[in-house]
Amino acid sequence: MAIDEIVGDSIDRAINIEMRFRAGLPRGVTYPLYEAARKKQKKPLTWLAAKLLKEKVKPGDNVFVVTGAGTPPGLPAGETDGPPGAAAIARAIEFGLGGKPILISEERNMPAVIKSTEAAGLAVYDEALFKQRRSCAMAINFPLGDAEGKNAAAALIEKYKPAAMVFIEKVGPNTKGIYHSIMGTPRTPDKIASAYHLAEHAKTAGIATIGIGDGGNEIGCGLIKEAVAEIQPFGKDCGCPCHGGVGTVTECDVLVFAAVSNWGAYGIAAALAGHLGDREILHDEATELRIVQASVAGGAMDGAYSRLIPYVDGTSDKLQAALITVLHQIIENGLKEYDRGF
Ligand SMILES: [Zn+2]
Repeated sequence: MAIDEIVGDSIDRAINIEMRFRAGLPRGVTYPLYEAARKKQKKPLTWLAAKLLKEKVKPGDNVFVVTGAGTPPGLPAGETDGPPGAAAIARAIEFGLGGKPILISEERNMPAVIKSTEAAGLAVYDEALFKQRRSCAMAINFPLGDAEGKNAAAALIEKYKPAAMVFIEKVGPNTKGIYHSIMGTPRTPDKIASAYHLAEHAKTAGIATIGIGDGGNEIGCGLIKEAVAEIQPFGKDCGCPCHGGVGTVTECDVLVFAAVSNWGAYGIAAALAGHLGDREILHDEATELRIVQASVAGGAMDGAYSRLIPYVDGTSDKLQAALITVLHQIIENGLKEYDRGF
């Protein structure tokens, strides 16, 4: 038994409840951007992404899980939005599909990615051990710089032949090739992994790609670039000398838009649990608390506060766990057939 699209839409709604600060970051943009993505893709986004993973990932297949946001000095070891989502996706791919998750991020962000994944119940090993056993992941540092990224992308795809790639809160370039924060601050490629080369390369190699974003500057959001230009305060003009706007041009096969990128990942794990009829493919509340706290122990900060606290985009660890409760109930009831007798 599997979930239908009604359940998929409920998951999508649960992960798109905006809780932004009254001031300081763009506000009132989540649902309009979600609707643009939903309209364009014609089906519930998490439902589509999980379906794609289920179709493409066979036991033993490698899957690239790419994340890592934030740059020094504001967020020197990354932010809490990204690594927990990567951990949830890696866990769901391994537990649910028998896939082999390969975590990819900048070296500075990798401690949080690894600790989050371990907290999710997957050991992170070197390549030899990763190949020999189950219930584990492997981590690969992706270089900074555009040319370096291009070479690395080609080499990694050639070596590991992934069946799919999932990008979580991973910034992509705008029309001018510049990366931006959602507030328009430009970031040159020497500070950031040019992971978009993986997505570009995947397109020519016929590898399935899923992008998860919460602003419009993340890989995958190229699918709704017109909406991002229209809706985001710095969408049309970033205000930096490039004047290209904060939205990325990089597209994926499926875009999952969410109020927080981690929530998009949790939504995909929930939908995969639903498609496979096994609720355990979505981690539980206690695991969620461990994951968020582990990401902070790895140096990741809440991006909204820029503080080393167990918050994600300004929302508490308790809220993350509560969202997991909501998703579990949606799946449990979405799989249940019950006759109350009258
Ligand atoms: Zn710019």
